[in-house]
Amino acid sequence: MNRSAHAKQYRKLYQTKRWKALRRDHLNKNPYCVMCGKIANTVDHIHPHKGDLTKFHDPRNLQSLTKDCHDTHKQRLESRGYHGDVDESGWPSDVKHPANLGNQIDDRTKTSTG
Ligand SMILES: [Zn+2]
Repeated sequence: MNRSAHAKQYRKLYQTKRWKALRRDHLNKNPYCVMCGKIANTVDHIHPHKGDLTKFHDPRNLQSLTKDCHDTHKQRLESRGYHGDVDESGWPSDVKHPANLGNQIDDRTKTSTG
């Protein structure tokens, strides 16, 4: 699925009263961008919701960002394909993180170069 199809699929979620109220509430409570500290105008999902309404509406899954930081953050995330977040033990929590993939990385490299 390409990016525009992805955005179109979930656009209606962002047009609901529930999301707008949640977004406004989050920005009221967390007015500053978590990355640069400027006034935030974007509420981002820390973990991609992929249409999961529980994740989509989970206040703990939200972070305030400026648009600049949001775009930078998301581009980096999409180009890497994983989060750099770690769990309590310091281990990367994203199952797609290279540390959690083991030999799959090697296999993919062989396939792409082979
Ligand atoms: Zn920012």
